[in-house]
Amino acid sequence: MKLAGRMSRLGTESAFEVLDRAAVLEGEGRKIIHLEIGEPDFDTPAHIVEAAERALADGHTGYCAAPGIPELREAAAAFLSRTRGVDVPAHRMVITPGAKPILFYTLMTLCERGDEVLYPDPGFPMYESLTRFAGATPVPVPLREENAFRMDPDEVASLITDRTRLVILNSPHNPCGSAMTLEDLAGVAAAVRGRDCYVLSDEVYWAMRYEDQHASIAALDGMADRTILLDGCSKSFAMTGWRLGFAAYPRELVEPVTRLLINSVSCTANFTQHAAVAALTGPFQPVEEMRAEFARRRDVIVEGLNRIARVSCRTPAGAFYAFPNVTSFGGSSEQVARYLLEEAGVACLWGTAFGPAGEGYLRLSYANSVENIRDALEAMEAALPGFEAG
Ligand code: PLP
Repeated sequence: MKLAGRMSRLGTESAFEVLDRAAVLEGEGRKIIHLEIGEPDFDTPAHIVEAAERALADGHTGYCAAPGIPELREAAAAFLSRTRGVDVPAHRMVITPGAKPILFYTLMTLCERGDEVLYPDPGFPMYESLTRFAGATPVPVPLREENAFRMDPDEVASLITDRTRLVILNSPHNPCGSAMTLEDLAGVAAAVRGRDCYVLSDEVYWAMRYEDQHASIAALDGMADRTILLDGCSKSFAMTGWRLGFAAYPRELVEPVTRLLINSVSCTANFTQHAAVAALTGPFQPVEEMRAEFARRRDVIVEGLNRIARVSCRTPAGAFYAFPNVTSFGGSSEQVARYLLEEAGVACLWGTAFGPAGEGYLRLSYANSVENIRDALEAMEAALPGFEAG
């Protein structure tokens, strides 16, 4: 059977492949430490679970408005105003099953053959995959260790053309753990102003920012009208399996994106949206506690990686990923990561799973216990001297 041609342009996420291989090894009785998946290992805070239970008991089990229930659109607008300083009305908020559909709907709405999309390399693999799927041309903006893996606004300015329809930013960043400064954001804003081009600001890790405050490009002068501000409950509230994302859209994009929602999923689960209202309006203490614990684990993993001979690792400014440099081992980062899984029982991802500019690095998620992180570091230190490139 022949598949549609567009399917050859659709990529995937290597994390799921590594998870499969790890499961095979576990089936053989091996102990594997999972540092490959970007998922908080905390329970969803109790008040959110209770709100979902109440919503189910109250019968919020039917279809609801395609762009989201009014209470959640209101709560999400107020939340973005409070946490990002962005003043957007509720009718510009769209609620989706997870944040990923926001990427999908935005690229399908804006981009087609002949258009260009700038995105970070390394970066979340869906940016490139969905750009190609839409028929547009992905234009990678390399992130370099010498620039603390931050997107360089001058480079963005030099890559923007009349064909650029969208510039994708991700701060804090997956996989590098970097975060853009206000100055970086102002530089990107200056590069897109006056052009027929939107910005998609992927801020799903905004709550995991360690030393400094998170800043959003949407808060800069005139930018809210050309920025799709993407956020969701997955990472901030440990709600990955609930599938709840939200975005502030420029006014003219709300209707076409809602049409895509109607054509694909009709609406986001009704009772889940009621739980999300509790997440966005309820106590923030559980998120603060998760952030503090991630910060503690970050320090353990970064210090431990830097103690391993021939490995060096910058201290991430946000998210929950360490991105150590393993170039001195020779061979590809994929070989190093596969070796670590087979020989050390440590599952992690190779930098090139996020784009060619990720060569030479590994991504280790520290959404795991300090004890497991320490065990993983010990196993890596023992196994790495035996790695032979080939
Ligand atoms: N954006 C980035 C940078 C991510 O890392 C992820 C998930 O890993 C997402 C978006 C998607 O999040 P969600 O689980 O809400 O679909």
